[in-house]
Amino acid sequence: MPTTWYDAKVINIQSVSPNTRRFWVEIPELEVFQFKAGQFVTMDLPIGEKRLQRWRSYSIASAPARNNQLEFCIVRLDGGKATEYLFEHITIGSTLRFKGPDGTFVLPENIDHDMVMVCTGTGIAPFRSMLQHIAQENTPHRKLHLIFGTRQAEGILYQSEFLELQKQLPNFHYSVALSREPDLNPANFPFDVQSGYVHSFYLNEYGTLRSDLKFYLCGWQNMVDEAVLNLTEKLGYDKRHIITELYG
Ligand SMILES: Cc1cc2nc3c(=O)[nH]c(=O)nc-3n(C[C@H](O)[C@H](O)[C@H](O)COP(=O)(O)OP(=O)(O)OC[C@H]3O[C@@H](n4cnc5c(N)ncnc54)[C@H](O)[C@@H]3O)c2cc1C
Repeated sequence: MPTTWYDAKVINIQSVSPNTRRFWVEIPELEVFQFKAGQFVTMDLPIGEKRLQRWRSYSIASAPARNNQLEFCIVRLDGGKATEYLFEHITIGSTLRFKGPDGTFVLPENIDHDMVMVCTGTGIAPFRSMLQHIAQENTPHRKLHLIFGTRQAEGILYQSEFLELQKQLPNFHYSVALSREPDLNPANFPFDVQSGYVHSFYLNEYGTLRSDLKFYLCGWQNMVDEAVLNLTEKLGYDKRHIITELYG
């Protein structure tokens, strides 16, 4: 089947942390853009001659909805060509060309195991889509534990939403690791927070090997590689219990 490219229109942009923005787009030619929570699209950006220089993937941060709108949550990287273009040249009304959806980092058909979702920064995007989807559709599930890491409190993404979800969604637990807040006082935060990296959360809490648990990891190579190593070498988990989405 030929690949379909869409020319989406940017309908809103919001800065959510010093280097992170939410972008909302609408696909005028479609009534409904169908995708599974956790999937991504690939944008073709005018930043190079060859297609591999121009293509970048972005997870859909919104839950599947019966409409033609999508949200992305994107961090600007120093020296990054695509993100420089997105942050410097894309405004409301701009066009973003993309194909998709693609990807197998999605919810299981039946959530018959506990899901531990580990991410840093904009690696939150597919999990935000999945968790909102579960809440909106009342999808039967077991324990859902989101472990989000960033440097400082100002980098926490979708905080109020996850706090709300903790009230609404049975068995949902939200934890935050802040790596550059050494004097952190957890009592000042309305959620489970600690100073350090995401790794200590799952190492402490899931130290006993269980067959009814899967780890979903999303983000940049350093974090994902370290987590895979910890889970397999330190905790003894088989790779079938570890599902990853690598950003780069
Ligand atoms: C399936 C998939 C989904 C993705 N979803 C998202 C998403 O939802 N949100 C999002 O923000 N990104 C996402 N990405 C990453 C995105 O595709 C780009 O790689 C990213 O935006 C950087 O592109 P760039 O052109 O700005 O940087 P590039 O020009 O490609 O790279 C800039 C430089 O930064 C280096 N670099 C790479 N990673 C890091 C890092 N973590 N910190 C510092 N420097 C680094 C590179 O090695 C390079 O030297 C996703 C990637 C994949 C594969």
